[in-house]
Amino acid sequence: MATTRKKKEEHCVMHPSKENTLLCLNCGWTQKIDMPISIPMFGAITKQFGKEHRNCPKTWQLPEPPKFDAQLTKEQRIQQWLTTGRRGVSSNTMLQVIERIRCVNGSTSHPWDPSDFNRCHLLLQAVPELREGFPLLAATSKPWKALITHWDELTAMLLEEQRTKQYGSMYERMRELIDGVPRGKMFDKQPA
Ligand SMILES: [Zn+2]
Repeated sequence: MATTRKKKEEHCVMHPSKENTLLCLNCGWTQKIDMPISIPMFGAITKQFGKEHRNCPKTWQLPEPPKFDAQLTKEQRIQQWLTTGRRGVSSNTMLQVIERIRCVNGSTSHPWDPSDFNRCHLLLQAVPELREGFPLLAATSKPWKALITHWDELTAMLLEEQRTKQYGSMYERMRELIDGVPRGKMFDKQPA
């Protein structure tokens, strides 16, 4: 009994991109929960939300995150990115080192700032298989090694900064990883 009821409310979830927000995947309704909140109160709100949306019809679709075109082979997606992608030295370096495609004019480089990182991130979204070659990149330099080791952390920071439009801490974190400069010592004044 309990399991059937639970199943019925599986479309009631925590919002994947909005903080502290309940989401009904059937109708798209959201309920923001103000934090801090006691656990019993949190439970009561989610329970009530589930109750109200238990039988609501499927009329809404969560917008799909951009995905790579699975119809295309890895080689085709690389080719597509080479012609239409947002390329920079560091993302070109990824391809050159991992896939041995000569596409860097001059010297290779790691990403220096969040914009560079973003171009690498976009390349990885188009060609996720490149992740398998991360050890090759990490072997090329100390900064690459540090960035690769913290890639998921940096990706989360990137998406968070893009979402909130509050920039600064990711740059500092990158500099910290690249130069070994402790966070907070980078600027005389903290960036606004
Ligand atoms: Zn609903």
